[in-house]
Amino acid sequence: MSDRFFVTSEMQQAQAAEIAVVAPLDKTLSYAIPAALAEEVRIGSRVRVPLGRRQVVGYVLGWMEPGDTPLKDILEVIDPHPLFHAHHAAFYLRAARYYVYPPGQAVRTALPAGLSALDSKPSVLRDKLYRATARDDEPQGVRQREVLAFIRAGKQVSLSQLRQQFPMPHAVLQRLMELEFLQVEEVERCRDPFAEINVDNHQPVDLNPAQQQAVTQIEEALDGPGSFRSFLLHGVTGSGKTEVYLRAIARTLELGRQALMLVPEIALTPQLVARFRSWFQDHDVRLAVLHSGLSDGERYDAWRQVARGDIDVVIGARSAVFAPLPDLGLIVVDEEHDGSYKQSEGFRYNARDLALMRGQMDKTVVLLGSATPVLTTYQRALDGHLTHLQLPERTAERKLPQVQLVDLSEHEGESLLSEALQKALAEALLAGEQTLLLLNRRGYAPFLLCHDCGASLRCPNCDITLTYSQVQRSLRCHYCDFRQRPPESCERCSGVRLLPEGMGTERLEEEIRQNFPEARVARMDRDTTSRKGAHHRLVEKMMTGEIDVLIGTQMIAKGHDFPAVTLVGVLNADTALNLPDFRSAERVFSLLSQVAGRAGRGDRPGRVMIQTYAVDNYALDFVTRHDYQGFAALELSQRQALYYPPFGYLVNLVLSGNDESKVHNAAEQLAANLTSGAVIGSMDMAVEILGPAPCLLPRLRNKHRMQILLKAEQREPLRRQIEKVSRFRSQLPAGVVLTVDVDPVDMF
Ligand code: ADP
Ligand code: ZN
Repeated sequence: MSDRFFVTSEMQQAQAAEIAVVAPLDKTLSYAIPAALAEEVRIGSRVRVPLGRRQVVGYVLGWMEPGDTPLKDILEVIDPHPLFHAHHAAFYLRAARYYVYPPGQAVRTALPAGLSALDSKPSVLRDKLYRATARDDEPQGVRQREVLAFIRAGKQVSLSQLRQQFPMPHAVLQRLMELEFLQVEEVERCRDPFAEINVDNHQPVDLNPAQQQAVTQIEEALDGPGSFRSFLLHGVTGSGKTEVYLRAIARTLELGRQALMLVPEIALTPQLVARFRSWFQDHDVRLAVLHSGLSDGERYDAWRQVARGDIDVVIGARSAVFAPLPDLGLIVVDEEHDGSYKQSEGFRYNARDLALMRGQMDKTVVLLGSATPVLTTYQRALDGHLTHLQLPERTAERKLPQVQLVDLSEHEGESLLSEALQKALAEALLAGEQTLLLLNRRGYAPFLLCHDCGASLRCPNCDITLTYSQVQRSLRCHYCDFRQRPPESCERCSGVRLLPEGMGTERLEEEIRQNFPEARVARMDRDTTSRKGAHHRLVEKMMTGEIDVLIGTQMIAKGHDFPAVTLVGVLNADTALNLPDFRSAERVFSLLSQVAGRAGRGDRPGRVMIQTYAVDNYALDFVTRHDYQGFAALELSQRQALYYPPFGYLVNLVLSGNDESKVHNAAEQLAANLTSGAVIGSMDMAVEILGPAPCLLPRLRNKHRMQILLKAEQREPLRRQIEKVSRFRSQLPAGVVLTVDVDPVDMF
């Protein structure tokens, strides 16, 4: 897309611009456009503006009529090209308002990092892209032939790829250019972190009737008159949802529009990205992958390509929902239930919900996919707001695995594995099949306990025990990352019997290695996958059969397609069930159904064993029967009785600060503010105000924390309360911070 586009359609003879500045202000500001910059200032421009005595970065979101009061001037336009278009600006603003977050800081979060400081400009890397010409004979030299064959096979190959394949390819490339076997183009370099993953080429499949029906309905919506349509693709694990996404994207591109595909935590879903890549390569689709592994410069590059309209498909995690695709036709949200779509700090948006908001504003088709949709999404489908598309069976007539509960109260002995699970594991090993073991706790043990005085070692900054890691010989806080060496003796009573309590993945690994010395065991959790590429290597080893038993946290439940896995064991379902959160049953149902869904995806049937003390828990019971609908019906009726989402709306207000009494007082004041002025029987009374009360983690990173939970059946009265909250912000004492979490996902 050329600059002319902006000049003709978005540039007006405006004298003032609406600008979101990077500062904690809850509204946008107006600045005058000096004549000298009139040609340069566009919607989407990043600019330097004065704010008080400082100068800050701002983003141009729209045009203003200058009023009577004189405005300050925009001082500089920082980037040569705008970073987004007018309809994106409208979306960012609406998102900021919805989540009660300062618009300038919201836009900063939306954009690639590194663009908010005045003096930083991510550098642009350049690369060369080689393509074969139409000439179809062969050159003379052996090296020349090899290089040419490589380029012909890859259609277009970058210099950096060639360098990895051939030592010093320059001279050969030069010669091939002279002989007119090759042509070259200089491009901005976007490193592709998935380039090193090998995948078999995508095998075209014939859709089964359920897939076909889903595709037909989505295509009808895409072909239609460009209006907002949303779908829930509700397909059991292994039902072939990816194939449906691909067809929907293909149709979008045929119609000349672009597609956005959101996936949870890209680094954890290499298989999916690889499948997309191979498919798109075959179809000459220009793909950009946006994710947190990119450097600031790389992300900036990819972002500008997208804004220019040079990209057909963006795949990305959460923040890609803001990608400035100029003519978006389809948004896919894969695994829409995944918790990582919610940003847990700062701008606390939920990318799934914003996908729907954006779809509505841009009039696109939105497709949410999951085997275990969150209940809010499911209820929307039941209400008819989303079209419910179902894939009730696995592809190729594979069966869902058999799921069995193992009663831990009958289990004796030290082993973390019940006899039943040990036996099943031995059988799987004997048959040469793979096993996944889920234990949602990393480290060796959740804490060290003094067996003389009963003291446990706690984080000095947070009210939480320190996790013990034997591998790292450390005690660590999983919230603030505080670390210390395990002490020799108890700090309270000087006793020396400090022993690990409870279980973590390290301890499970140790036990499996001891009891099954012949098995090849690996562990997948944050500790073993923190280094770059480590997660990929584990996935590859699973695929090639170099691992027999993979132990891990919930990471192992995420979307993997390991055909040789026949046994899945869940070590303990109870910790998660007992969390004091109205969503705990939903989370457990979802996690266990997802991890169960990893079993039996190949030719051999799968089985799942879940160890628990709560054998008659209803959520577990529904898991064993693969009965999402039954679970949802029961859970929804309970939610309805208490006006919990999806039958009500929540906003969580958290006050935090170093000084405990200041935080308490501020919380009391805010609560009083919220209740005052409410007339009995008025709309405001429709908001229930719960608290103030200490947060579940009352001290985190050395901050004391109090919360007030607002709950309402309708959004409107809730919004009015939030306006009061925004006004209250200015009355906060120094050192106390108020965060507003709209539609909170967890309330720790
Ligand atoms: P889901 O995402 O629903 O869990 P996937 O999309 O990973 O399932 O598909 C599971 C497997 O089924 C994949 O290996 C995929 O290639 C295969 N598959 C998809 N559609 C078909 C089909 N129509 N016929 C045969 N195999 C299929
Ligand atoms: Zn801590």
